[in-house]
Amino acid sequence: MIYIWTCAALAGIAAALIAIRSFRPAPLPAPAPWTGPLPEASPPADMTIYRLPTGTYENRAFLAYRGGAFSDLRKFAATAVLVRHPAGDLLIDAGFGANVEAHIAALPSYRRTPHELGDTVRDQLRAKNYDMARLKGVVITHAHWDHVSGLEELDVPIWMNQAEGRYVERAKDAAVFRDVASRRDIHHYMFDGPPYLGFPSSHDVYRDGSVVIVEAGGHTDGSVVVFVNPPDGRRFAFIGDLTWQTEGVTLRAERPKMLQLLADVRPAQVRDGLLRIIALADRIHVLPAHDVRAYDPIPEWTSSSNIGG
Ligand SMILES: [Zn+2]
Repeated sequence: MIYIWTCAALAGIAAALIAIRSFRPAPLPAPAPWTGPLPEASPPADMTIYRLPTGTYENRAFLAYRGGAFSDLRKFAATAVLVRHPAGDLLIDAGFGANVEAHIAALPSYRRTPHELGDTVRDQLRAKNYDMARLKGVVITHAHWDHVSGLEELDVPIWMNQAEGRYVERAKDAAVFRDVASRRDIHHYMFDGPPYLGFPSSHDVYRDGSVVIVEAGGHTDGSVVVFVNPPDGRRFAFIGDLTWQTEGVTLRAERPKMLQLLADVRPAQVRDGLLRIIALADRIHVLPAHDVRAYDPIPEWTSSSNIGG
């Protein structure tokens, strides 16, 4: 009997040591930087992008990326991005909606953290007399609660691919999506375009290279990266949750193993996507969805001089 207890205790200690080690820094090997040309883009001169922050929730850096400090309390952004394009506007993700408290209450207790709520996307658009008829839909980077809560108030189609369509049918982490999307049309787009910046296939939304969605997968079945190329020549990559904070790219720091197991359907595929993004990071501004700092170069919708339209 004592032998069994000793074995159980040793196994427990070994598991704890392995868990602790998985939070230590372990940078991914640096990929070769992308040296080829960036894909052609001919965005219309009046295309613009704005950020619509809807709130934040707290997480510690040590849970966000390997090597992050326990004492480093981060505010995770829940921010939507509005792409204004003469052929019709798009949102990328929807942020927190009016019922986000209920969405948070439905999470397992260990995932509920202190949060701050701002105005919803709908309220921010209304405040500037935005013409909702201009909005073609909401492209979701993936179907987790903190990206889709605000879909509830946005009566426009949800743009998603077939792999994400399969994910939302079965995944526990898509419960909020199933709730808020039940009264929405789904626009299923296909990855009908060529490889794009190292990703295997793409979908060029406006056929002008200004907004190109690529298949990343791994975080959810159909998680995506959205490349946005406005007419001022800047290039942006909205990478969803390939990493939760910019250090995932700058330090090549993955999520700690335990968080990978909780958050990602296929961690190895997330790693592949992250390495592709790291290879581009000198040439393209990378926006992890939850890094408040990464949105700085994008003007805020409510403080812009742009009125409705
Ligand atoms: Zn997220």
